[in-house]
Amino acid sequence: MTGNPPIGLLAELTHRCPLSCPYCSNPVELTARDCELDTAEWTSVFGQARDLGVLQVHLSGGEPLTRRDLPELVSAAADLGCYVSLVTSGLGLTRERLADLVDRGLAHVQLSMQAASPTLADRIAGAKAHDRKLAAARLVRELGLPLSVNVVLHRANHDELADIIALAERMEADRLELANTQFYGWAALNRPALLPTRKQLAAAETVVRDAKRRTRGRMEIVYVLSDYYERFPKPCMGGWGAHQLTIAPDGTALPCPAASTITTLTFTNVRDTPLADIWYHSPAFTAYRGEDWMREPCRSCERRTIDFGGCRCQAFALTGDAAATDPVCHRSPDRHRVDALLDAPAAPDEFVMRGRV
Ligand code: SF4
Repeated sequence: MTGNPPIGLLAELTHRCPLSCPYCSNPVELTARDCELDTAEWTSVFGQARDLGVLQVHLSGGEPLTRRDLPELVSAAADLGCYVSLVTSGLGLTRERLADLVDRGLAHVQLSMQAASPTLADRIAGAKAHDRKLAAARLVRELGLPLSVNVVLHRANHDELADIIALAERMEADRLELANTQFYGWAALNRPALLPTRKQLAAAETVVRDAKRRTRGRMEIVYVLSDYYERFPKPCMGGWGAHQLTIAPDGTALPCPAASTITTLTFTNVRDTPLADIWYHSPAFTAYRGEDWMREPCRSCERRTIDFGGCRCQAFALTGDAAATDPVCHRSPDRHRVDALLDAPAAPDEFVMRGRV
């Protein structure tokens, strides 16, 4: 199956980051600075992506503000007519830098927050970051850009959920994404300490429902479930190789941000192959596109066009077979693997903090 054109590009400009979050989904082995695509290479990627049909470019990392050429990269993507979004911790954002990025066409900022209380937030970030993030949010609002706040939820911050929502309201966020931790990359090392409890998730449902009602028309709230506790898996990426692609800092093209964890796949690099060939024809992008790759129970399941058999990275992480039914699904013969993780005794709230490059 060759597929439809992509609409979104996640450009991971760098793995360098001033924070050390234990839930980081970037790979355990990070890309070193001297292996990163340079300005001309990224500019070429943006042009090829636009030719393919991409309309949204998300500049991410690591921390994209660590790239000195970020202004040129914003210009390159915006001049192609793309909607350009900056996915940032906010550290390193000054009024001058942001004003320049806005002049060059930056359209949106997504800011990560770790918790509502500064002490907990700084402990999770591994740095004195909370107050600097609030300052960055104020700059975004003052310069008139739409602001999204992203908070990764886990056992250590779930009990602050109501306060986190109140904080995002005070920050005047247009959108709040509350995403339960996905256990890929570094986050998988911390799964025993990060998995929220059933009680926390039950309480969250009421808090989120009430908050959505209260903030309707003012702040959109998106709540991403902790799928280990669900009966059906998430419709990961809207299907493999269906709508978006990720380019890692060294130019490796990935069907989803966590796909490099699937060690049975071979990924192609934009330094070697045109992006259109990668999207339409490379082994990794075509491996799980559509339905032909599915086995039972997915192959004959009525939900296969809703969840696409779940997440390939999760299937690989929990079974060693990326073509298996996502073990989160209660129809999967591997569901017992997820149940065993949920039934394991809770680990202390001690994190293996993310290393840096
Ligand atoms: Fe989804 Fe496959 Fe489970 Fe059906 S059997 S619900 S398609 S994961």
